[in-house]
Amino acid sequence: MIKHFINGKWIASESKESVEIPNPATGSVIDRCPLGTESELGLAVAAAKEAFKTWRQVPTVDRVQYLFKLKTLMEESFDELAKLVTTEHGKTLVEARGSVRRGIQMVETACGMPTLLMGEHFEDIAPGIDCKAINRPLGVFGVIAPFNFPAMVPFWFWPFGIAAGNTIVIKPSERVPLTQVKVFELIEKAGFPKGIVNMVHGGKDVVNAMCTHPDVKGISFVGSTPVAKHVFVTGTSHGKRVQALGGAKNFMVVLPDAQLEKAAATAYESITGCAGERCLAGSVVISVGKDTSKAIEELVVRRAKETVVGNGLDANVNMGPLISQAAKDRVKALIQSAIDEGAKLLVDGREGVDQMPGYFLKSTVLSGIKPHMKIAKEEVFGPVVLLAEASTLDESIAWINSSPFGNTTTLFTTSGAAARKFSYEVDPSMIGINIGVPAPMSFFSFGGTKDSFFGDIKAHGNACVGFYTDTKVTVERWGSDANVWASK
Ligand code: NAD
Repeated sequence: MIKHFINGKWIASESKESVEIPNPATGSVIDRCPLGTESELGLAVAAAKEAFKTWRQVPTVDRVQYLFKLKTLMEESFDELAKLVTTEHGKTLVEARGSVRRGIQMVETACGMPTLLMGEHFEDIAPGIDCKAINRPLGVFGVIAPFNFPAMVPFWFWPFGIAAGNTIVIKPSERVPLTQVKVFELIEKAGFPKGIVNMVHGGKDVVNAMCTHPDVKGISFVGSTPVAKHVFVTGTSHGKRVQALGGAKNFMVVLPDAQLEKAAATAYESITGCAGERCLAGSVVISVGKDTSKAIEELVVRRAKETVVGNGLDANVNMGPLISQAAKDRVKALIQSAIDEGAKLLVDGREGVDQMPGYFLKSTVLSGIKPHMKIAKEEVFGPVVLLAEASTLDESIAWINSSPFGNTTTLFTTSGAAARKFSYEVDPSMIGINIGVPAPMSFFSFGGTKDSFFGDIKAHGNACVGFYTDTKVTVERWGSDANVWASK
């Protein structure tokens, strides 16, 4: 049974409830995760609150030294971290390595906090009066993570939060907590003072306790839309800042002038990479015109048939399993619903997978997708390519904007004018032009709009300073000259 990390110590949970952590490629149980309690969350928040008193006074240049150390330790443990991601999540080792690299990049960017945190100073806003604005930390922040990027998502937040002078309580996904356990071993080794970064395992009880705890100042959440909405509503109604990143339904449009071979390969990789378990995964490919549609269909079907599914630790495997049997059953049911609603099944990824151990699905390709179909509206979170056709770019944009989600969307084209129109008119906040997974890097902000994001300030990049600090403005008059005092 894995342990919490509270106030610099590994602590066994007293909870009687726990869940299995299976390896999704084999189905065999690797370990167990306790479902922590409200009082355990309370212990972590109390430790973080106490640690904040001194941590906020540590100069920012000194605070980031711990992050520099952590970055070095993560580089040394890079392969071990990636292997853990593959073992508990299932994605291929190449994909896992990419996600660990992204996590490290977040730490690197947070090391620049002395520059990011700088405020403003203005002399003589009135005769003899100066004004300064500083960004000061607020206290204890919570981070709640989803299952799909165990090494990356928590790093979107906490390095920035602590570098700005706050303290943190992280709740990893109870389905993939092992990578974070390793990360916390490195945090311990890096010598962070006790109470600065804490970890409490669990599920909804810990989340709800975090949302209502009076000493938690803010929460960064990533997960499905219903839970994101719940965390946003509960957290804000308890006076907290909340940034809640939710689910997605991402559309990709192919114009006739696109480089079709590259567009098909990129769209296919976007949809099936990480077995489709990405919030930036493409889902519906809208080809403009019959000829484009036919060409994309042929190319995508060929790729789907070539994809090798298996244990992500195997070098020749292109796609790992889904996270659980429930996830696999859900995606299978969605595929069936599309067929029942009139979609054409071109490649059936359900074939031959039930004999395999673990929770595998192969790539499925469906054509004739229409906006009213269930599968065209819901997030699939599995390797299912949905092919649709439109007559114009305008029609495609109208379809994209009719979706309640607004995470990402992509256009494949060689026309600058079309690309400009597309970026300008679509609702989602992360746009790809000939890019299938337009993930903003650590020094840009990350997050969608509509039902994909609840809050005001997005993750990482320069925006993070706004989330993790309050701007305190001081207006000062220090002049000794009597005339200065006289002039208002
Ligand atoms: P999830 O919503 O099931 O779980 C996320 C977190 O919420 C977990 O830590 C979990 O313990 C907790 N939780 C689950 N049910 C809860 C409840 N009823 N009350 C309170 N807390 C609860 O999400 P998931 O399945 O782990 O992750 C997949 C989802 O995350 C997908 O929808 C995906 O699009 C989304 N996601 C979004 C982004 C983004 O940037 N927008 C990034 C990654 C994942």
